[in-house]
Amino acid sequence: MKLIKGAPIADAVYEECQRDIAELKAAGHTPGLAVVLVGDDPASKAYVGAKDRKCQELGLHSVKIEKPESLSQADLLALIDELNVDDSIHGILVQMPLPSHLDEDEVILRISPEKDVDGLHPINVGKLAMEDPTGFAPCTPSGCQRMLVESGLETEGKHVVVVGRSLLVGKTLALLMMAKGKGANSTVTVAHSRTRNLEELTRQADILVAAIGRANYIGANHVKDGAVVIDVGINRVDDSSKKSGYRLVGDVDFDAVADKCEAITPVPGGVGRMTIAMLMANTIRACRLATGA
Ligand code: NDP
Repeated sequence: MKLIKGAPIADAVYEECQRDIAELKAAGHTPGLAVVLVGDDPASKAYVGAKDRKCQELGLHSVKIEKPESLSQADLLALIDELNVDDSIHGILVQMPLPSHLDEDEVILRISPEKDVDGLHPINVGKLAMEDPTGFAPCTPSGCQRMLVESGLETEGKHVVVVGRSLLVGKTLALLMMAKGKGANSTVTVAHSRTRNLEELTRQADILVAAIGRANYIGANHVKDGAVVIDVGINRVDDSSKKSGYRLVGDVDFDAVADKCEAITPVPGGVGRMTIAMLMANTIRACRLATGA
């Protein structure tokens, strides 16, 4: 069994980013990312902090905008309007989830598609479906695809079963894997909570992707011998032996499944490491598209 760790693959992406940033800076352009956080949800704060730190490390122009929970929809939209016309900003990310009084769909729609480095604007989802390379694919699915490519795992003609149909992960990963080209050309099945006989279906997968949000849900009975398993899930489970009182586990019961697999990603230390790397790569590409450099 091969363990597909996220860190070395993310580091390879960061090395590419550093080369690109140096080239862009030499041409007079510094890629800029604005990350907007509304409220003080601890997990969102941690994600935003990590994104900001990585920008600083790479030498990207980073703007972290923190707003109180009480921010109105109109003020959030006005902030996005400002960022849309700010030439020093090439990527805008509004950290989700937003407080419940705010309309996430309207916020995503307001971000200029050219700056939507999270890849959730309908224009970018449409471009992904149309295989238009000027669009941005969401970061976590792109990271999953990159892990397959960098691990030398064939995807062409393989049966990929994705469990989960969110736009953020499952649905967009399905689009990426069924597209033409390297790391794609797969035959894709998407399963969700209304799928019947899930085990029967997932056992047909050459490549099984779990993006469900249920701790250790995928067990040995879901996986055929020799499958590749990509675990997107990040779930907290109680663990009194930890100072925090919890530990992170995936959607896949790693201990039950690992021995059956050709390759598998761990949680933590797997797909999660890729998401920020792909965000940086998207921001650099947004800068290239905006400046023509
Ligand atoms: P969502 O809750 O938006 O979607 C979960 C999907 O799983 C839904 O399509 C749902 O089906 C499906 N599902 C739920 N229960 C079952 C079941 N019993 N059998 C089959 N399908 C089921 O979650 P996300 O897509 O946003 O995230 C999925 C997981 O990935 C989470 O653990 C999240 O924390 C993690 N994640 C990790 C990231 C990373 O960087 N590694 C980034 C983003 C997410 P239905 O549509 O019918 O409700």
